[in-house]
Amino acid sequence: MSNKVKVIPCSGMGKVFGLASREAALKVVTELCVEQAETMCLAYLVTGDDEAKEQIKGCNCITIDGCPKMCSAKNVSEAGGIVKQKYRVVDTFRKHRGAQAGTATSLTDEGWQIVDELADEIAEKVKELSEEE
Ligand code: SF4
Repeated sequence: MSNKVKVIPCSGMGKVFGLASREAALKVVTELCVEQAETMCLAYLVTGDDEAKEQIKGCNCITIDGCPKMCSAKNVSEAGGIVKQKYRVVDTFRKHRGAQAGTATSLTDEGWQIVDELADEIAEKVKELSEEE
């Protein structure tokens, strides 16, 4: 089992929040914290796949959710992951009232700015958790 921090976005489709959630997670695991973090597919966990559960059980996790339903946080926790921090994309968007972030399938420059800000915040947390290990 890898001891990298798992950064798991919700699978929100149809809204810009879901896209922002996935893009922020990808930026963290592929650019900002390549050595300390990895992601996995939430749907894989939701379907109760044993291998996925095994990968996450007892691991430090950070969840990113597109809306207050908190699908990622709930499912990761149910699968045995230790949710150290829950992010909600809507909270980051609130700091940018009136921003035109894009659509469910593409982000504007403003949308990318919000994603970058969220990804930086998550990366800080990943580093903090990795140092605790
Ligand atoms: S948290 Fe909200 S946006 Fe994300 S998958 Fe659940 S319902 Fe969809």
